[in-house]
Amino acid sequence: MRTKIVAGNWKMNKNMEETEALLAELSAKLPDTKAQVIVSPTFVNLAAAKRSLQASTIQVAAQNMHFAESGAYTGEISADMLLNIDVDIVILGHSERRAYFGETDELLAKKVKTAIEKGMKTIFCFGEELEDRKSDNHFSVVESQLKNALFDLDAEAWKSIILAYEPVWAIGTGETASPEQAQEMHAFIRKTIASAYDASIADEVSILYGGSVKPDNASDIFSKPDVDGGLIGGASLKSDDFAAIIAAI
Ligand code: PEP
Repeated sequence: MRTKIVAGNWKMNKNMEETEALLAELSAKLPDTKAQVIVSPTFVNLAAAKRSLQASTIQVAAQNMHFAESGAYTGEISADMLLNIDVDIVILGHSERRAYFGETDELLAKKVKTAIEKGMKTIFCFGEELEDRKSDNHFSVVESQLKNALFDLDAEAWKSIILAYEPVWAIGTGETASPEQAQEMHAFIRKTIASAYDASIADEVSILYGGSVKPDNASDIFSKPDVDGGLIGGASLKSDDFAAIIAAI
């Protein structure tokens, strides 16, 4: 049985008071669920989020990290710094990091490797752009993103990987992949992993869908057999919407 997960990526939103207020609201509205619920505030508010959620089942993830142990990397955050405040989940490869900060599959491979070595869980994001889908290259783009960043990992490492398929054309656009498009790609991802490794790794990895998931489309998307939950951007910033999405899983 795969773990169901709903994760909220808050991006560069919410100051410390707003972070605490949103988490208090979300905790009060959290539906009864077997799914793992994760929130990802910005770096400076991770410690406050951990404090606010001390008595909660809601987990906290970082939105990025550096691959190096420590050193002269001005502005960067290491795995040990995150672990030091008890944050052991990290989102890597978000399309905004790839598009605005030049993160490549090769760089991401290093970051994932560090996260695994440090005992962290990684929510690894990937997905095609609109032109890739229009030109019918979406499967090959996704396959190469997985291969370049993840397929050097050993089988054991996959226990620490959560995948998040996020078609770039659906992120923050209000346009979502249809449940059928999401299912088709998630099944392809599983097949690709089964060919590179084996069927048990492919069957066990949770694959989240991300891209304009809202309360009114969440249950249709989550009903698909290879969709194990969602990575939610905009709608995770409103406690009612995020709670409704969690309830939909
Ligand atoms: C995201 O940024 O990961 C995301 C899925 O955003 P949104 O839900 O706003 O499309």
